[in-house]
Amino acid sequence: MKNKLKKTDVIVVGAGFAGVYLTDLLAKKGLSVQTIEAAKDVGGTWYWNRYPGAKCDIQSMEYSYSFSKEIQDEWVWTNKYAAQPEILKYIQFVADKLDVRKNMKFNTKVTDAIYDEESHSWTVSTDKGDEFECQYFIMATGCLSVPSTPNFKGMADFKGELYHTGSWPEKKMDFKGKKVAVIGTGSSGIQAIPVIAETADKLTVFVRDSSYTLPANNKPLSATFIEKVKADYETIRNRERYSVSGHVLAVNDEAFEDILFCEPAEAPMHTIPKDELFKILDEKYISSGLALPVTFQDLTYDEQSDEVFREYLDGRIRSLVNDPEKAAVLIPKGDRFYDRRPVMDTHYYETFNKENVDLVDVNKNMIIEFTESGIRTADADLEFDVIVCATGFDAMTGAITRVNIQGKEGKTLKEYWKNGPRMYLGLMANGFPNLFTVTGPGSPSVLSNMLVSIEQHVEWIDACIQHMKEQKINSIEAEYDAEEAWIQHNIELAQPLFITHGNSWYVGANVPGKPRVIMPYTGGVSLYREKCEEVVNNGYEGFIFG
Ligand code: FAD
Ligand code: NAP
Repeated sequence: MKNKLKKTDVIVVGAGFAGVYLTDLLAKKGLSVQTIEAAKDVGGTWYWNRYPGAKCDIQSMEYSYSFSKEIQDEWVWTNKYAAQPEILKYIQFVADKLDVRKNMKFNTKVTDAIYDEESHSWTVSTDKGDEFECQYFIMATGCLSVPSTPNFKGMADFKGELYHTGSWPEKKMDFKGKKVAVIGTGSSGIQAIPVIAETADKLTVFVRDSSYTLPANNKPLSATFIEKVKADYETIRNRERYSVSGHVLAVNDEAFEDILFCEPAEAPMHTIPKDELFKILDEKYISSGLALPVTFQDLTYDEQSDEVFREYLDGRIRSLVNDPEKAAVLIPKGDRFYDRRPVMDTHYYETFNKENVDLVDVNKNMIIEFTESGIRTADADLEFDVIVCATGFDAMTGAITRVNIQGKEGKTLKEYWKNGPRMYLGLMANGFPNLFTVTGPGSPSVLSNMLVSIEQHVEWIDACIQHMKEQKINSIEAEYDAEEAWIQHNIELAQPLFITHGNSWYVGANVPGKPRVIMPYTGGVSLYREKCEEVVNNGYEGFIFG
């Protein structure tokens, strides 16, 4: 049954980092805001991804909001990289502080959004029978919020516990005495495997394409470091906003006391003599995390640098994994290092030396089907109590196209995006007035520190809405030509980069039938921000006001 139609200025979908900030900012500007979230509480990614070992791989002092000095000063991070429980606590702390939950409806999914050209408004429906009418409809639905689960034959017959890392249950999980399978060795699998192996009776990892992973070398932050960063936060945050990828802190000294910044290397990696290179990689760069590709940007496009770096990484895998056959499976085949997002781990390779850990190379020994008691491969029937799918997400477009969005003349967004997402600046699409996306396709989003990109989009959307109110403008949408030019600009920028040609979720390669298109903007955070500023300074160039 439908509930009575409610009118509101803004509907925000999603209560992750984007939704929480949007709700606060727009409500403070006097707009009526209704936020709708499928989960039971705020958190988004950090609500859903509770799998063992889940962690951030941007330094915690940078992966946090910058918009409130009070929040920034009050919160104290414990480690260089924060684990999921701490990040969830942080966003809950922010939601309490801003008192945003009063604008939020939880346990509710938005299902449809239909635009009415006469009233310039959207009618938004939910799975709980709500109907809202709003002028602005904002999808803050996340880039990695729709888990992708493979469709193995017999999956429904499996009688044990079956989980996906991206929708992990809240209950406390105990693997003691259990036989566990993990399918997938991307970032999520690589984080979960060492932790599950600590208690499981037996862990079997199903490997298809291995990913390269670097040691996180996570450690507690010193009080001195925290103090120094807080004292200099304004400068650091500004550097982030005008950097390539939205994070600027580099590898630190052992005591974690001094602030060091990432600096691009003077020459490509392959020009450093190999002995010297391998030594500095060992001593400094191997555990510098995502600062490494900022230092050696040539790793994103230069074949020679990639080759020498992979030689180093392959040697490292062979030296860490005792069994040469297992090591061979764990060495990625044919992929360049930067075909995918770099992964960071804690004792991942060493885990394969444990007696209770085994792996199955699914390229040689295919998964045929799930059975009642486990997994049947080409070679054997394997029994499991628990199967974990660490198989990734229908990234960037998945959450948006799952809502029935109809713009002008009944055009659906799903149909409009059938050959890949079409957006101007990753913010708006032609034919869908007053529909904004936060960190949408065509913006740096997942190629950046997401907190920096989220804040930029939220503030851009807020400024745009304020401008429309001041000028008494009813609607805004992207011009078709501006949208097309932006897409072509990104294709050109992305062409020389490895990620355009690799088989990752960045190009939709992980979801059968998904069009293969580079989805994030590859020009970097700084260039993108300048472009967004220029568009506004030129009177919202490329947008049509109605
Ligand atoms: P999300 O946090 O994804 O929130 C979107 C919300 O929208 C979800 O709660 C979802 O339930 C809700 N939603 C979606 N569709 C609907 C609907 N139809 N109706 C109602 N609600 C809906 N980024 C980094 O920068 N650094 C990292 O180290 C990093 N680590 C990550 C680790 C993991 C395991 C994952 C999965 C992602 C990671 N990310 C990282 C990316 C991360 O998604 C972002 O940093 C950020 O948390 C996204 O916030 P968001 O608010 O945009 O989206
Ligand atoms: P992912 O990178 O897409 O990895 C999915 C894994 O599952 C891959 O190893 C893939 O193999 C495998 N797989 C998928 N379908 C399979 C099948 N049918 N049979 C066998 N194997 C299968 O997903 P993810 O690990 O969840 O990470 C997604 C993104 O989330 C990351 O890139 C990152 O942006 C974010 N994330 C970040 C962190 C962090 O450290 N901060 C942690 C987790 C996630 P193939 O490679 O062969 O396809």
